[in-house]
Amino acid sequence: MKNGKVHSYETFGAVDGPGIRFIVFLQGCPLRCLYCHNPDTWDPTDGTETTVEEIVKKVLPYRGFYKGGGGVTISGGEPMAQHEFVRDLLRALKKENIHTAIDTSGAIPLSVCREAIDEADMLLLDIKSILPDLSKTITGSATVLANEKEYLDYCESVGKDVWIRHVVVPGLTMDEEQLRTLREFLDGYSCVKRIEPLPFHKLGEHKWEEGCYTLSATEQPTKEEMAKVDAILKKI
Ligand code: SF4
Repeated sequence: MKNGKVHSYETFGAVDGPGIRFIVFLQGCPLRCLYCHNPDTWDPTDGTETTVEEIVKKVLPYRGFYKGGGGVTISGGEPMAQHEFVRDLLRALKKENIHTAIDTSGAIPLSVCREAIDEADMLLLDIKSILPDLSKTITGSATVLANEKEYLDYCESVGKDVWIRHVVVPGLTMDEEQLRTLREFLDGYSCVKRIEPLPFHKLGEHKWEEGCYTLSATEQPTKEEMAKVDAILKKI
């Protein structure tokens, strides 16, 4: 069994999946999203080498809190960059009857990480943009949008629930036509149970190397702007 590289943990997460959740943030991400608020998770050689057993041991004392709809979410970084470790970890958690979710951006092709996805009870899928060129501009990857679509097709075919997240950035993704296109696309999937628009913020800007963050002049969406976005995109 492979060891994993862990960035950090959160014991009472309330925003990464249903209910109260233990969040495992894995180290390493091949994407370079313009608005990333955790660039400290990028380097796969950083982080703490950890075994599956060590993580399960950390989760078990809290399991009472995760009953009634909660569970464990594997996030990052990009967790699918360590898909073998995620697969083994989810198998171990399943043996303990703990609900599991993977929070992914689709950076890794489905053909590579399907076994890990098979082990998860649900996916949280961050779709960066429904437009191929913009997806590439935001993430630095020309293939991530195709991967995201593949994940969705697969989840639809096997009946796995997906919650979509979409970061709303003025000047990039806060465009009515784009939002409508995304919503229409997602309405084609019965596996998509929820769509959460997330307002862009700059809380992680200070973690970037000097001169590399390009969205310093971009404002956060206002409440009114987010209300308009929610009216188009939000699904709960
Ligand atoms: S996928 Fe997540 S961790 Fe990776 S660069 Fe994008 S926002 Fe950052």
